[in-house]
Amino acid sequence: MAEFRFKALEEVLNRKPVQIEREENLTSDYYGMLVFDQPKMKKYLSREAYKAVMDAIVNGTTIDRKMADQVAQGMKSWAMENGATHYTHWFHPLTDGTAEKHDAFIEHTSGSNVVEAFSGKLLAQQEPDASSFPSGGIRQTFEARGYTAWDPSSPAFINGTTLTIPTIFISYTGEALDHKTPLLRALHAVDNAATEVAQYFDKNVSNVKANLGWEQEYFLIDEALYMARPDLVLTGRTLMGHASSKDQQLDDHYFSSIPSRATAFMIDLENEAYKLGIPVKTRHNEVAPNQFEFAPIFEEVNLANDHNQMLMDLMKKVARKHKFRVLFHEKPFSGINGSGKHNNWSLTTDTGVNLYSPGKNPKSNLQFLTFVVNTMKAVYDNQDLLRASILTASNSHRLGANEAPPSILSVFLGSEVSKMLDLMEEAVVDRKMTPDEKTALKLNIGRIPEIILDNTDRNRTSPFAFTGNRFEFRAVGSSANNAPAMIVLNTIVAKQLKNFKAEVDKLIESGVKKDEAIFQVLKGLIIDSKPIRFNGDGYSDEWVKEAASRGLTNITSVPESLSAYLRDENKKLFEEVGIFNESELEGRVEVEFEKFIMKIQIEARVLGDLAINHIVPTAVQYQTVLLENVKNLKQVFSQEEFDALASARKELIREIGGHITSIKAKVKEMVEARKKANIVEDAIEKAKVYDDTVRPYLDDIRSHIDKLELIVDNELWPLPKYRELLFVR
Ligand code: ADP
Ligand code: MG
Repeated sequence: MAEFRFKALEEVLNRKPVQIEREENLTSDYYGMLVFDQPKMKKYLSREAYKAVMDAIVNGTTIDRKMADQVAQGMKSWAMENGATHYTHWFHPLTDGTAEKHDAFIEHTSGSNVVEAFSGKLLAQQEPDASSFPSGGIRQTFEARGYTAWDPSSPAFINGTTLTIPTIFISYTGEALDHKTPLLRALHAVDNAATEVAQYFDKNVSNVKANLGWEQEYFLIDEALYMARPDLVLTGRTLMGHASSKDQQLDDHYFSSIPSRATAFMIDLENEAYKLGIPVKTRHNEVAPNQFEFAPIFEEVNLANDHNQMLMDLMKKVARKHKFRVLFHEKPFSGINGSGKHNNWSLTTDTGVNLYSPGKNPKSNLQFLTFVVNTMKAVYDNQDLLRASILTASNSHRLGANEAPPSILSVFLGSEVSKMLDLMEEAVVDRKMTPDEKTALKLNIGRIPEIILDNTDRNRTSPFAFTGNRFEFRAVGSSANNAPAMIVLNTIVAKQLKNFKAEVDKLIESGVKKDEAIFQVLKGLIIDSKPIRFNGDGYSDEWVKEAASRGLTNITSVPESLSAYLRDENKKLFEEVGIFNESELEGRVEVEFEKFIMKIQIEARVLGDLAINHIVPTAVQYQTVLLENVKNLKQVFSQEEFDALASARKELIREIGGHITSIKAKVKEMVEARKKANIVEDAIEKAKVYDDTVRPYLDDIRSHIDKLELIVDNELWPLPKYRELLFVR
């Protein structure tokens, strides 16, 4: 068995970087060449069809069938000129990744011949066989079929030879079966709520757009080594493996020069990404060996999320060409840095103002503070929902590890913005301010822009940090679709802004001047949400205690965290803001519980198999060698000499025996625990039973295997070790 490992290592040593054809043109010359973007629409569509699509994008109007036919014609001509033969409706089901079903353009003509055709009907709507996508029982309750519908706000693109059309996926009765539908609803809600509040400061604002800049972390592992690790292949993470004697202690990987094979992969990937209009901007090494990051220029949330899913897909494809495999798992290697997907998020108005950027005068700064404070209050009130949106089976290994955001939500604002809020808190609002007080306050508020751009005031240990002109939600997992996090964030901010507006309007009606009213309400919010503000070290043990004393929640169990979605007040919140009705929410959460169960179940099976079929036989083999050795010693040496020589070997034999016995017993117990858990009917209950009774065996069994790895002859060990996975390149 060890042969496989050594062959893999040899293969890696013989690898050369793949020669990539460098694009001769400037990036700007071929950027977006595979996207049906505005310039192409202008060229391929009639004026009225172009206008209809632009109207749909900007104002959310619907496109009628006649126009859709024209758009389909134009899209088809463009796609065929660029080598497309098929088309697909592309969507984000509730499983990980995206889904597509390809259909050829061909239709029969009257004879036996075919002709390339693509109608508005086919562009606008499709009926994939929905029964194999998870819905958490929604489809049974409502209607068996689901359909996909074109989302004109994200442009069609060509993937290989397929015209790919971004779509939403819903049941016939309109229930969302995907990630995109509720995301679009949440973006719509935050647009409405933020626009109304922004109008306090500028009447000309007519809509507000939410932006997302994701930072995608990942590992690159050589294909041969990956294939020699069934746990990586089947679960995306190593279920065993003793720490390498050296890993990231020397901090010598972060931002250091990128290994040449990885560089070739990145350049190749960027070329492909640019053709698809994905604005990848930054690439660098991350903290762990073989860990890297890509970050794009931020875009509108829905488009940014489509681009993230497209890029993840592209990364897998391009990696294969370079004999790599990409690991998106949040914690592929125990004990070293995990991977996240920081979500940089902001709101901008159609008048070109970033609502999280302090402006040049007190008025625009009051607007800035309004949005910062309301966001903070939303996070405070909805800690559990935010956590539920990102805590998955895989991300739970990362959160709270010493290098990753803790499972306690807090907001970092930086010392200067904090000082501002303290000033506002102390300011008098119950009686009329004196002119001097007013001037002082205005001066202070006006001071923000100079101080805020001081980027040294950064905190990397906060799960939700203000970073100068945006918030950065850092707890999102690297393998996740951004949608759940973005749905919750935009929903809670929308709700909070609505509450804020209602309160301010009430004060204005009672005769308080607008600015004072805003000020008064903000002051209340600052006081109420104070416990969530934390500028210190989020990784420290003291913070855990301090957070508890502030009444912040700290939940590490995935099932417990997910349950937050189902609380009455949260069902009401989603219903009220127009994101999910009760059955949509319940269906979706059930899917999450089921995913959790599946992941643990698969990991338990894989670990059981590897332990019994790979590790125990190897340990027995080495034990036999030792036993033979002891027998031989006995024949050669006198009893006295033998006793001296054999005692260490005997001890080793016992140690190995002990681990073998423990592994066998525990694997058996784990199988029994699974059987018991599998009988439980209710998904939520079952997830809890899996979490409490099956999951602990994963670490327990692993610890015996990892100890064996240290004592068994290296020549016999069947699986590539951590030092090989991380350092042989
Ligand atoms: P860092 O690693 O220092 O946090 P990066 O430059 O790697 O920063 O990534 C920051 C991400 O934030 C990029 O995707 C960038 O486009 C995005 N970003 C910058 N400004 C904004 C903004 N106003 N709103 C949303 N995202 C932003
Ligand atoms: Mg960042």
